[in-house]
Amino acid sequence: MPPVPPLPDDAFGRVLCVVAHPDDVEYGTSSAVAAWTARGIDVAYLLLTRGEAGMDALRPEETARLRTAEQLAAAEAVGVTEVRFLDHPDGVLEHGPALRRDIARVIREHRPDALLVGTWEIEFAAGLNQADHRVAGLAGLDALRDAGNRWVFPELLDEGLEPWAVRWLLSSGDPRPTHGVDVTGEALERGIASLEAHGQYLAGIPGHPPPRPMITGITALQGRAMGVPHAVLLRAWDLFAPPPIAQEAMAAAAGTAG
Ligand SMILES: [Zn+2]
Repeated sequence: MPPVPPLPDDAFGRVLCVVAHPDDVEYGTSSAVAAWTARGIDVAYLLLTRGEAGMDALRPEETARLRTAEQLAAAEAVGVTEVRFLDHPDGVLEHGPALRRDIARVIREHRPDALLVGTWEIEFAAGLNQADHRVAGLAGLDALRDAGNRWVFPELLDEGLEPWAVRWLLSSGDPRPTHGVDVTGEALERGIASLEAHGQYLAGIPGHPPPRPMITGITALQGRAMGVPHAVLLRAWDLFAPPPIAQEAMAAAAGTAG
């Protein structure tokens, strides 16, 4: 197997990461974010919930406050200052027009070249994917398309938000990664610090491994595929490129012509 290639250096200048909960970006992906922000790429986070149902011992209001603060600190650790929360309900996140519209609104406001989501696959590297994570990934993909279509959610036009076409969709945790980001060194350190920022939340999860060995190990495993000590693997779709099958179809048509 040839090594997984890096994303092209000039692929994008603005990234919006869309995830369900505080801490979802911090299991490896935030090390890639640190590598990007160090290169001057603008990265923003959109959290669909505040993760308020995530701590058994605490009331949701209290958990929401705690996890919001931890997420802001986690973002800051990797150079992200813009963090937004949509306040959809944690645990029962629903895929549908309301969620798609709310994400599309932020896409039109932020105007990213790349949208990064977690995989929506039912089964992935970490086992069975959780409901909110599947919904967040799929709603992100759909909202990307909605953001570019003038006639879907016309109320966004009334808010002064013109359509915006996002070029790249990036998915983390996808079982078939196409690209990698080398995070060896400073980016890895900052990624570790970003998971450590969720200290109180993680303390409530019995048996959760400490962030340093966990993130070091996750990125080391992914680094093997890229041929570097530490990497974050992503699946990337270039939505401005014609699908490969279109080229094959045209070639097939040319072969049968006349
Ligand atoms: Zn989560």
